[in-house]
Amino acid sequence: MPTLRNGLSDRLLELKTLLTQSSALLKFMTLTNTTQTLQNYVDGQWCFSHATDYLNVVNPATTERLAKVPLSSSDEVNQAAQVAAIAFQTWRRTPPTQRVQYLFRLKGLMEEQFEDLARTITLECGKTLDESKGEMRRAIENVETACGIPMMMQGTNLEDIASGIDEFMIRQPLGVAAVIAPFNFPGMIPFWFMPYAIACGNTYIVKPSEKVPLTMQKVFHLLDHAGFPKGVVNLVNGAKEAVDAILDHPLIQAISFVGSTPVARYIYSRAAANGKRVQCQGGAKNPVIILPDADIDMTTRITADSAFGCAGQRCSAASIAVTVGEARQTYTDAIAHAASTRVVGYGLDEGVQMGPVITPQSQERIEHLIQEGAAQGATVLVDGRSPKISGYEQGNFVRPTILQNVHPQSDTAKTEIFGPVLSLIHLDTIDEAIALINSGQYGNMACLFTDSGAAARKFRYEAEAGNIGINIGVAAPMAFFPFSGWKESFFGDLHGQGHHAIEFFTQTKVIVERWSSKDWSRKF
Ligand code: NAD
Repeated sequence: MPTLRNGLSDRLLELKTLLTQSSALLKFMTLTNTTQTLQNYVDGQWCFSHATDYLNVVNPATTERLAKVPLSSSDEVNQAAQVAAIAFQTWRRTPPTQRVQYLFRLKGLMEEQFEDLARTITLECGKTLDESKGEMRRAIENVETACGIPMMMQGTNLEDIASGIDEFMIRQPLGVAAVIAPFNFPGMIPFWFMPYAIACGNTYIVKPSEKVPLTMQKVFHLLDHAGFPKGVVNLVNGAKEAVDAILDHPLIQAISFVGSTPVARYIYSRAAANGKRVQCQGGAKNPVIILPDADIDMTTRITADSAFGCAGQRCSAASIAVTVGEARQTYTDAIAHAASTRVVGYGLDEGVQMGPVITPQSQERIEHLIQEGAAQGATVLVDGRSPKISGYEQGNFVRPTILQNVHPQSDTAKTEIFGPVLSLIHLDTIDEAIALINSGQYGNMACLFTDSGAAARKFRYEAEAGNIGINIGVAAPMAFFPFSGWKESFFGDLHGQGHHAIEFFTQTKVIVERWSSKDWSRKF
């Protein structure tokens, strides 16, 4: 029987827990309510940067200033690397079964704050709320997958490689690792790497894109709340100086990068020259091939989502649609209709299907590339330049655009536009279409739309791209498969996510072992 005193103290305890939880939640929710200066998170502490330069973080639809982000110095990266190296000594000795408990807690917190995280992505990046939710869902899937580390990190062994000799391969963490992230998936991309890195026993530094640092600021409040030991996860905001300091720092062993191809090439060369393990995912120019037997309604819906979803700012956005034979006219009419009727506006508004592009400079660059396409002989079938979006006249909007009769060898067919622009090319055979894909510099994704299994097999066998879609418009691998770019879309050999991430974040050690044989019949 509970006594009155026990009952009261139980109620008081419940009240105390409730108050603690709601004050933490309040702190989290008010994070972006004022124009704040963002902080770094180093050694388990939030700290203001000593930066002399700051950038504004701006809502690309409304142009409202959301925050100021510091461009941290190399000293600040050094501090994060030092504390992460110290934390590594204890973290690597923490059993994997305990390490994943922090990830389970993180997953719970991410689910609790799911709506707010998604809203933050839309605020700073511009995509629609549904797109932001899709992004956060994939981030969470990566946490879930990394929770399997006690199984996935295991090595291999073989007894009696010679009589009485056994051989083992074990996986050990590397030390301090870091990610340098792009603007287009502020919530998801650090999660292609971070959960695996820390589950494997490494400690970590995140350098978000300086254009969209708010989402990681919120994620780090959750990491803090999940109770990771000091120094295991660190956040350093910044741009080139911070990146170069990461590339050169002797305590940082492994670097993951996602961004444009020229920067990927630079990061890969400089970090590799410093003896680091590097994986760099770069830009893309993704073709979709439409055969005459494709279901045109489905193909149009899916390819329109691929080309115009996230305002075309996805590394797996369809950028070229190649119609083969009789698919030409029906697809052209249907995609032109889909492009011109897409609802463009502020991503938080109901019914909006496409948001703005990230900056006024991006808008200008995209509109310039449309102009260049026309100058090179393409017809601007649907023209999305300089739109007026009611209520958001100052936003960085470009409406869906279709360029028709794009020459396969023109710059338009080869340049990554990274905006809502789809180029139409017509060819006579699937062989010509595959040859066109294989002649391109990028190899991030290629998709085929058809009803024919034989055509599908030929395509997946021959197309030179790391991610293939068959009747799929955005062939972005799930968390438990590697994100497999090829050619100039990737520098390195192990990709993000799944087993590749585990290989990347561990080094193998092989032990060959022999013990003297004893007479076991002897009593001890
Ligand atoms: P970006 O290359 O401009 O920037 C990426 C990161 O690199 C940022 O954190 C930035 O601070 C840093 N950076 C930029 N210039 C630098 C320099 N000169 N020296 C050192 N660091 C530098 O890319 P972005 O515009 O943020 O992102 C868009 C690009 O990312 C597109 O090309 C897109 O295709 C690509 N991307 C690729 C994938 C993929 O999986 N392959 C996924 C998402 C985005």
